[in-house]
Amino acid sequence: MPDNSSQEPLLATRNTADEPFAGTPPFESWGRYPRYNATVKPLHWQSDFPRAIDGVHTGALAVGMGRSYGDVGLLKDGTLLHTVSMNRLLMWDPQTGVLTAEAGITLAQILDFAVPRGFFLPVTPGTKYVTLGGAIANDVHGKNHEAAGSFGNHVPKFELVRSDGTHVLCSPTENPDMFAATIGGMGLTGVITWAQLRLKPIVSRMIDYEGIQFHGIDEFLAIKKQYANVEYTVSWLDCVSTGKNFARGVFMLGDHSKDPGELKPSGKPKLTFPMDAPGFLLNKLTISAFNTAFFHKQMKKHVITKQDYEPFFYPLDAVHKWNRMYGKRGLVQFQFALPWETSKEGTIAMLQEITKSGLASFLAVLKTFGDVPSLGMMSFPMPGFMFALDFPIKDITFPLMQRLGDMTKDFGGRLYPAKDACMTADQFQTYYPQWERFARYKDPAITSSFWERVTGPNGGAR
Ligand SMILES: Cc1cc2nc3c(=O)[nH]c(=O)nc-3n(C[C@H](O)[C@H](O)[C@H](O)COP(=O)(O)OP(=O)(O)OC[C@H]3O[C@@H](n4cnc5c(N)ncnc54)[C@H](O)[C@@H]3O)c2cc1C
Repeated sequence: MPDNSSQEPLLATRNTADEPFAGTPPFESWGRYPRYNATVKPLHWQSDFPRAIDGVHTGALAVGMGRSYGDVGLLKDGTLLHTVSMNRLLMWDPQTGVLTAEAGITLAQILDFAVPRGFFLPVTPGTKYVTLGGAIANDVHGKNHEAAGSFGNHVPKFELVRSDGTHVLCSPTENPDMFAATIGGMGLTGVITWAQLRLKPIVSRMIDYEGIQFHGIDEFLAIKKQYANVEYTVSWLDCVSTGKNFARGVFMLGDHSKDPGELKPSGKPKLTFPMDAPGFLLNKLTISAFNTAFFHKQMKKHVITKQDYEPFFYPLDAVHKWNRMYGKRGLVQFQFALPWETSKEGTIAMLQEITKSGLASFLAVLKTFGDVPSLGMMSFPMPGFMFALDFPIKDITFPLMQRLGDMTKDFGGRLYPAKDACMTADQFQTYYPQWERFARYKDPAITSSFWERVTGPNGGAR
């Protein structure tokens, strides 16, 4: 079992790229809503848990880079076990591409190690500033869900430490139930101390990119069908315009370039959003102007080019702390998955509800999930549409979230806990009917504000 506690790290890394939390208590995650007081205890070594919670009776939760939006990584008045110092690379096998690392390593640090060696992440979310543990705990998905499934599909093994001190080796064949409960298990089953990740070979940093404008969901579906063999696909959708521009967008497609090229490490991002933006900057006019500009940024109907992987996968990472753009009140994200049967009808109905509400979103992302089954009991993806929007927090935001959450329920879909701050217990329990089975695997000393909100204070196995 890899235990690096008495050794020098194989790869000395530091989370220099960004801070995991925005400051001292009260703590906030990426959406800056809600904010809760908590005690933070750093875990430096794998052996620090469960000692770190000796005498703690208010519950504990492992956290990574705080890149979840709502309260899945928060625990009001509890203890947050901060894992980012536990970030050593423990083993690397260039023959199989399997890397073993402590759970607090970030995907940015893995890329810094792997890209110069000709390897890439098998699945990546839209920011690289997340930890390995956080990526497993939310079973994150990327632009290649149809080809690759979600993150957990590429994790052969990990160690879970429970609050009673038990060390559980988890893989599809060793403790398979605990493996399935922990992938997408929102940190509730224990602390992941280290994990293996199967990387994939690349020969260049570059992505063969195509961008295609579309008008409406039918054109979106036609492009998707035409480009079914492209590995990475995602679309930006204008969720403000109505009439002939309703549901227009840009379909973005990419494959790792097969032409051998540079594999040097990434440069560091240059810009930091300087302050909390004043609320008046976020109105329908400015967001509408942004959406029109974004649509026309791609001047031609069809663009074919090569692009570095950084702007392709991580356009938002170019501006650090961009969440400040939403001001002190913060933002909430609404992210649904809908089954194929209701995908088109449901997306159009929800877009209409959003445009009717007058609440605009800078960023709306539409993509499709494929049918590679997730290994996690509570994983979010399901075959069909995935749609995500960020909304500034205003008084009308919360009623809209409730309406959209209910519509998601009626269309047979589900919302993503990693991005949520609003779903009700009734909505969660309908989206995830397996939650009671999952609760049997929950660690009794571990909980989160999200879990308490969606199951009640005595929810699950507590
Ligand atoms: C700009 C942006 C783009 C994003 N794009 C995507 C996307 O495309 N796809 C997607 O799926 N997600 C996306 N996300 C969400 C993000 O990938 C997830 O929320 C991710 O889990 C955050 O990881 P983290 O290290 O910041 O963990 P945190 O947010 O700190 O914690 C997340 C969860 O992981 C648990 N956890 C963390 N470490 C451990 C550990 N060692 N052991 C056990 N549990 C642990 C926590 O308890 C919590 O439940 C995006 C987020 C941002 C800000």
